[in-house]
Amino acid sequence: MKQKDNIVILGAGESGVGAAVLARKKGLKVFVSDNGKIQENYRRVLKQFEIDFEENGHSFQRLLSATEVVKSPGIPDETPLIQQLKVKGIPVISEIEFARRFTTAKTICITGSNGKTTTTLLTYHILKEAGLNVGLAGNVGKSFAWQVAEHDFDVFVLEISSFQLDGMFDFKADIAILLNITPDHLNRYGNDFHRYVDAKFRILQNQVHDDFLIYWADDPVIQKELKKRKINATCLPFSSSFEIEGPGAFIKNKKIIFNNGKNIFDMTLEQLALQGKHNIHNSMAAGVAAHLMEIRKESIKQSLSDFQNIAHRLEYVASIHGITFINDSKATNVNSTWYALEYMDKPTVWIVGGVDKGNNYDLLLPMVGEKVKAIVCLGLDNKNIHNAFGDLVENIVDTESAAEAVATAYYLAEKGDAVLLSPACASFDLFENYEDRGNQFKQAVNAL
Ligand code: ADP
Repeated sequence: MKQKDNIVILGAGESGVGAAVLARKKGLKVFVSDNGKIQENYRRVLKQFEIDFEENGHSFQRLLSATEVVKSPGIPDETPLIQQLKVKGIPVISEIEFARRFTTAKTICITGSNGKTTTTLLTYHILKEAGLNVGLAGNVGKSFAWQVAEHDFDVFVLEISSFQLDGMFDFKADIAILLNITPDHLNRYGNDFHRYVDAKFRILQNQVHDDFLIYWADDPVIQKELKKRKINATCLPFSSSFEIEGPGAFIKNKKIIFNNGKNIFDMTLEQLALQGKHNIHNSMAAGVAAHLMEIRKESIKQSLSDFQNIAHRLEYVASIHGITFINDSKATNVNSTWYALEYMDKPTVWIVGGVDKGNNYDLLLPMVGEKVKAIVCLGLDNKNIHNAFGDLVENIVDTESAAEAVATAYYLAEKGDAVLLSPACASFDLFENYEDRGNQFKQAVNAL
């Protein structure tokens, strides 16, 4: 395809600035527009590459003269500017779609409602340790475009969100991984779960028989959708509840059996660095992808067993007077919190709350009844939490800072208990982002 050469980039964050640098390096005419203030580090890069930009507002006429627009995943489609661009027939694409045109590297693309970052980092770790010339990009670390601009990798492991997928049209994943689909971000999809499911399934678009789809075969939504859709790629399902015939992975006698269609190997669940049911799924997905890439089985096993856990995902913080503190600040939806509670093997004081994205807490009731001894709400509006669990848990206390939440939880917990921060909500009411929330939690714990 001939590259259009009057590129407008909306949003000067990680993906936008990455796309701008790439466009500039490819000699394309590019203009960056952000309706907010651009972070200093990104402004410096734009200047360094002599890229034209504006901030704190959009000059509509200039933007409407674009031949193509690369939109940050954070900007909703409903925004009037995006609507106007679409009416004018100007293509609006994502940074991933744009960057793909400039690399022939093989891509392993990971999506799902939960587990994307963990599985992306795990897969990258295995490939890197095996000596491949591999890049890590997408929603984690540097943007894909930026990496394409600066490196010449043979393979990319990409974390892809539904918002990125919305702007992907000609892009094709060589290996797609679909981890799970549960409700999330419905506010961006008109509260229509089907639209969100459709977005996730775009990970399969343009695939042909020589491409691969690795998916969690136990997920009811994925199962149902696969029956309805025509799948061109070669499928490698993984399951923790039944045996997979042929290529894929499953669990038998506390071992994962990996099969790539050419050879089979196994590894015990105990050997996995990442524990918890959800992480078994993530490890299976990453292992299947690496096996497909023909990485040696010893190398896959080694990497799955020495991977260092990442912060804010069921992260052990400290044990104080026999009370264990766990930081799962990245749990920003109900499903991820379900897995955190499932993982708990001690009576738990649960810190929950924040910006509720339309949560239905019913899914958590049995788990909360079984494991939670007290709830500490950490958010400005906690009424949904009181309504959902008021009849089940006697002690529910409201707090408005990480320090207050930790002090309260510490007071409510006894020796042998655990305190779990797993909010099931976004963090923007009291914190900058989930990292800030997790860091403030850890600081407060370490100050006890
Ligand atoms: P994502 O990038 O999709 O948000 P992360 O790997 O950052 O996923 O994990 C987000 C949250 O979801 C964490 O609380 C983590 O413990 C939980 N989680 C990780 N993997 C899974 C999974 N396969 N299923 C459900 N929850 C998961």
